[in-house]
Amino acid sequence: MSGASGEERPPLREVIARHGLNASKALGQNFLLDQQLLKRIAAIPGDLRGGSIYEVGPGPGGLTRALLDAGANVTVVERDRRCLPALAELNDDRLTVIEGDALAVALPDVLAEGGHIVANLPYNVGTALLVQWLSSEVWPPRWASLTLMFQQEVAERIVAAPDSDAYGRLAVLAGWRSEARIAMRVHRSAFTPPPKVMSAVVHIVPRAQPDGVRFADLEALTAAAFGQRRKMLRQSLKGLAGALDALEITGVDSARRAETLSIEEFVAVARALPEARK
Ligand code: SAM
Repeated sequence: MSGASGEERPPLREVIARHGLNASKALGQNFLLDQQLLKRIAAIPGDLRGGSIYEVGPGPGGLTRALLDAGANVTVVERDRRCLPALAELNDDRLTVIEGDALAVALPDVLAEGGHIVANLPYNVGTALLVQWLSSEVWPPRWASLTLMFQQEVAERIVAAPDSDAYGRLAVLAGWRSEARIAMRVHRSAFTPPPKVMSAVVHIVPRAQPDGVRFADLEALTAAAFGQRRKMLRQSLKGLAGALDALEITGVDSARRAETLSIEEFVAVARALPEARK
């Protein structure tokens, strides 16, 4: 049986009150209650009818409702067991609820091949998961898109272009084999309780991976380069085996600073690392 649709369900505020879901700071709980806003977020991945969605951190289930209403089969992973009875009330056979830590979840257990991932998460968990999903050894990955809520400042770091303050490791890791864009900005007052800062939803879709680049090399390179972003590369990359030779092989001037390199240049240097280490 499919569960109740929009009109028939109890308001989220009532669900939260009845289950005593007072927001936990430690779990980064800031709930979204506005069904219109949730509907717009659920529309970002595209037509979800009959599709598979993995939602991380459903909380009381506002976004989950919107995803079910959009016609998706939804698997949710929630760490806070207080939310489980509220989610069970959705009583929908297209919904699978798993209690656990999303950082420990193996994607094949929660997402069909070609499904979408959607989440409104505490930002530190969101960034860790994003890097995990971007580091997939198989590419294109299992997921067809990521729709993730972040603090606006983090969202801007994910989509940043070179020569900007926001440009760094996250932009390079997101940009080398996917397209990332800010799909929506969300005012802090939309959340209960409101966080201190503004938020934004980032939409990410995979594209072809440049040949011969290993994620681990790109990650080590960007971590070193942006670890000392004001320094010249010849200084910041000193501790990374083969990096200075890789700069030479690729013709990237070692007097440049990390934030001036395009994503393609980072990719080229990372590709040269194994050769440079021989
Ligand atoms: N999706 C709901 C919404 O939009 O109203 C809740 C969003 S709230 C910002 C984040 C949710 O993620 C909370 O329900 C929290 O308990 C859950 N959470 C936090 N860390 C988690 C983790 N490591 N794994 C799974 N869920 C987590």
